Amino acid sequence: MDILQVGEPVLRQKARTLSAAEIASEEIRKLIARMRETMYAGPGVGLAAPQIGFPLRLAVIEDREEYQKEISADQLAERERRPVPFHVIINPQITESSGDAREFFEGCLSLTGFLAVVPRARTVRVECLDERGQPRVICASGWYARILQHEIDHLNGTLYVDRMRSHTFMSLDNWGRFWKSRPVGEVRAELDSPQER
Ligand code: ZN
Repeated sequence: MDILQVGEPVLRQKARTLSAAEIASEEIRKLIARMRETMYAGPGVGLAAPQIGFPLRLAVIEDREEYQKEISADQLAERERRPVPFHVIINPQITESSGDAREFFEGCLSLTGFLAVVPRARTVRVECLDERGQPRVICASGWYARILQHEIDHLNGTLYVDRMRSHTFMSLDNWGRFWKSRPVGEVRAELDSPQER
């Protein structure tokens, strides 16, 4: 299943709420299964329905332990990144966000090959339904809170490029070549105020 890239109109639409009958339907059950496969194939830690062409308020999330093996313990700790089991969020709403904004590089499966520093609230409280239509309240912090904010943005037609520190926008290759191992504060200082060399 192809992941739509930036420029597709559906990525800029406000997705619509799902009814209880739709949530219980075979079509939505199948769509969730397709989204899960597509997220794994990405690979990514979240996927919103608009990214595969469905303007519906539905996203899947999973941050697998295996994705974190390449990342140093220090970086995982700084990002407050811990494994998150697979789950579905339907009709989600951020009802609270708090904490000083955290800035880290972030990418998106709909902007393949690029990333940028994006400020996000450190903690969020999200009210949503699960795939059985049951109400859920999620209180998340750190990287999981970032994933939730990113996916819920997709349902409102917002992409990380709308929130990024624009001077830090770069290709994945160049991030790996020049910036990957440096603290984000240092990266921002250097990119925001270019010095003569
Ligand atoms: Zn995305």
